[in-house]
Amino acid sequence: MTTKAYAAQAATTPLAPFGVARRDPRPTDVEIDVLYCGVCHSDLHQVRNEWKNTVYPCVPGHEVVGRVTRVGKEVKKFKAGDVAAVGVIVDSCRTCPHCTRGLEQYCQCTPTYTYNSPDKVSGGITYGGYSERIITDEAFTLKVSEKLNLAAAAPLLCAGITTYSPLRNWKVGPGQKVGVVGLGGLGHMGVKFARALGARVVLFTTSPGKIEDGKRLGAHEVVVSKNADEMKAHANSFDFVLDCVSAEHDLNAYLALVKLDGTLCLVGLPEHPLPVAPFSLLSPRRSLAGSGIGGIAETQEMLDFCAEKGIVSDVEVIPIQKVNEAYERLLKSDVKYRFVIDMASLKS
Ligand code: NAP
Ligand code: ZN
Ligand code: ZN
Repeated sequence: MTTKAYAAQAATTPLAPFGVARRDPRPTDVEIDVLYCGVCHSDLHQVRNEWKNTVYPCVPGHEVVGRVTRVGKEVKKFKAGDVAAVGVIVDSCRTCPHCTRGLEQYCQCTPTYTYNSPDKVSGGITYGGYSERIITDEAFTLKVSEKLNLAAAAPLLCAGITTYSPLRNWKVGPGQKVGVVGLGGLGHMGVKFARALGARVVLFTTSPGKIEDGKRLGAHEVVVSKNADEMKAHANSFDFVLDCVSAEHDLNAYLALVKLDGTLCLVGLPEHPLPVAPFSLLSPRRSLAGSGIGGIAETQEMLDFCAEKGIVSDVEVIPIQKVNEAYERLLKSDVKYRFVIDMASLKS
């Protein structure tokens, strides 16, 4: 079945219309008409081959919310007409020690990513959510409450879980001081979640124009990171700092904010390595860590938490024809705070 999509044919060409072949649903599959797909900075890194592993044509998109159109005969969780969602992974080995702990994102046999991944079912490469339809195994398909605005819920599938998971893993909560670096798609969800979990939240931004928004989104305090005095005032004081920056920046400046036995956790994935001075780590005994999205059960937990608390992303909904323009704006940190593609535009 040929499905309309947008693809990049090379690192230097814009995304353009493309037809992808989707498999017919297997007994455990769910067929989803994509309503909305968020635009993650990872889509941009991948499309432009910044991680040096892109296979073209590349159809990005891993923040998918849609409506179920058909299900295979063994599917239990979904029926036609339900809202369903797909995030960054669509399969894993399901048997390795990480998978059996619900950490499918760290599958020791490598998870199948929603796009740019070897497709174990159909052969070839997986194609993501910048398309009118997607077919996924129900075990990797999520439930989203219809109480939430569905366009604004789409970014929860990557930006949401990628910030929720480390905040939960490092047990962020009342009495703790938590920093979030970079107010983009991930960062604004990090601020919302850290606040909802009861921490004292400080946002670090390079954009003075985002101070008011940072506070509105939940930060108790906003620091413009170019201001050395403001940075110094927070030295050695954070239990946990979540770094959501997509480009080169000085990690040592953020390690300096972390207190004894605290952690700087990286979720941003800039193209080039970032230098770390060992002195930044050893006194006072700090940890530098990383975190990748979240497992399937934790993603569902995060979606349910969002439904209960009424948490969604702040989004700018765009037609797919504007996606290349949106990428240029992402590079200028000019997004408030996630672009989401209205997939109806693909049909027109
Ligand atoms: P985004 O919306 O473009 O936000 C990135 C933010 O970083 C910008 O809004 C900006 O915030 C800040 N920034 C940009 N350039 C900077 C620079 N040169 N120096 C300092 N700060 C800068 O991107 P996103 O979609 O949130 O993604 C962020 C990163 O996370 C990307 O690298 C993405 O690939 C990665 N990611 C990782 C995972 C994972 O599983 N670990 C999942 C999804 C995404 P201010 O204007 O506030 O400074
Ligand atoms: Zn993403
Ligand atoms: Zn596994």
